[in-house]
Amino acid sequence: MRIVFLGPPGAGKGTQAQNISKEKKVPHISSGNLLREAVEIGTDTGIKARYYIEKGLLVPDQIVVDIIKDRILKNDCTNGFILDGFPRTLSQAKVLDEMLKELGNKLDLVFHFAVSKESIVLRLSGRRICGSCGSNYHVTYVPSTRDGFCDKCGGFLNQRADDKPETVLERLRVYREQTEDLIAYYRKNGILKEIQSDARIEVITKNILDTIDTLSEKKYLALE
Ligand code: AMP
Repeated sequence: MRIVFLGPPGAGKGTQAQNISKEKKVPHISSGNLLREAVEIGTDTGIKARYYIEKGLLVPDQIVVDIIKDRILKNDCTNGFILDGFPRTLSQAKVLDEMLKELGNKLDLVFHFAVSKESIVLRLSGRRICGSCGSNYHVTYVPSTRDGFCDKCGGFLNQRADDKPETVLERLRVYREQTEDLIAYYRKNGILKEIQSDARIEVITKNILDTIDTLSEKKYLALE
């Protein structure tokens, strides 16, 4: 199953990607996480990407495309993946289609997470990420048992620098300007599914799993 999660920052894509990745045993690939790792380690890519990330701007296509290409070619992606945060521009979407075509594959589903601006601000300001294993928390909606520490690995929980209100507003503007076009692109391809992401986390996870299972059944029946 090759899936893309599309939606504004704070729509809950990362949380859902973690849940679905666990259920369906395919890797969760977050372009944002890969870029932040590169920044942390201080690779050439990370040094270039840092400037854009801190300003809430998109990192140039070539940098992100190279990182995603390397990741998708790893063995654990043979049976599929969940892409979160990539593609974000029409040209990235076209490169992804080409990349998959060369591998004899294609995208199965694109989930579009729709959410109000008010919810986004609430979600992002309370979001905390484990510095060691990357698990997502929220101070109100998904608190950790021990304040400030990850339930899964005991790592410190941090707030992302670009979750500050000014940067969030810039990220939302960039999303509207550069990423919203992708909704029409994937709708035209017939693989877009709308997800109302103001609902409870478990309800959204179930909706996504039901949609994936329905598609898998259809594929299975078509093969019979
Ligand atoms: P995210 O964790 O998905 O919110 O991404 C955090 C930041 O990483 C974004 O604000 C961008 O600066 C950068 N980024 C992540 N994914 C992409 C992408 N597909 N294209 C360009 N920049 C990206």
